Amino acid sequence: MTAPLTEVPSTSGRAVAVLEGVAKRFPSGTLAVRGVNLSIRQGEFVSLLGPSGCGKSTVLRMIAGLIAPSEGRISVDAPQTGEVGFVFQEPTLMPWSTAIANVMLPLRLAGIPKAEARERAAEALASVGLSGFERSFPRALSGGMKMRVSIARALVTRPRLLLMDEPFAALDEITRHRLNNDLLALWDRQRFTTIFVTHSVFESVYLSERIVVMAARPGRVFDDLRVNAPRHRDEAFRTSAEYAALCREASEALNGAMAA
Ligand code: ADP
Repeated sequence: MTAPLTEVPSTSGRAVAVLEGVAKRFPSGTLAVRGVNLSIRQGEFVSLLGPSGCGKSTVLRMIAGLIAPSEGRISVDAPQTGEVGFVFQEPTLMPWSTAIANVMLPLRLAGIPKAEARERAAEALASVGLSGFERSFPRALSGGMKMRVSIARALVTRPRLLLMDEPFAALDEITRHRLNNDLLALWDRQRFTTIFVTHSVFESVYLSERIVVMAARPGRVFDDLRVNAPRHRDEAFRTSAEYAALCREASEALNGAMAA
């Protein structure tokens, strides 16, 4: 009845991001991660799950090219600017600009003419359910709405790879569930490869097809699990015995990582 979490086979599918023997030591001396080998395939929705401080953000920021590894190799198949989108835990909007101006920014920086940028930004805002809020300033929007603007800004360049660093951690549970569903609907339509950092077992199981469980001190990959459940996830799934069983298994893997 219950489809269990199983080990992920290491082959099949075109890789969008590959990490080989990656380590990161910060100038402070902290060895944030060591020996990370990971291959993320096109169209996958992968969560990086682990306790605070196990190097999830560091891995994500290295994939984004925001920081360099100290050892190993990272290749990301996203040759054009704008093919990697990044969503941070905070919405990081410009407070003096309207929602649409915030979303237009990456396009304007890429030299896209204003009229086209405006049209595409309006589409991106509509795709996250914010039609009618184009001219609102961030201070007039709720936390969930600000995060939607942030997601629209990341998706407006139509990235091949979307990197999300605990984007919903600061939101209340109802808003978080709603954004989980809306993110999955967007992913279903656009099929960008997603790497989603979270320390929530429940969120990782709900969203992902695959969960990379990380352990700390030093940060490393501890387990790589496939979530064997239908891709369509909704509130019925969230309250199902299947989801509960998958969460239990993922919790056990996380407990193993924390004891390692
Ligand atoms: P996580 O995202 O899993 O919470 P991080 O990647 O943020 O973990 O951090 C991993 C380790 O690296 C932690 O010990 C953290 O204190 C350290 N670290 C992260 N960023 C820096 C930095 N810029 N300078 C020094 N140490 C850092």
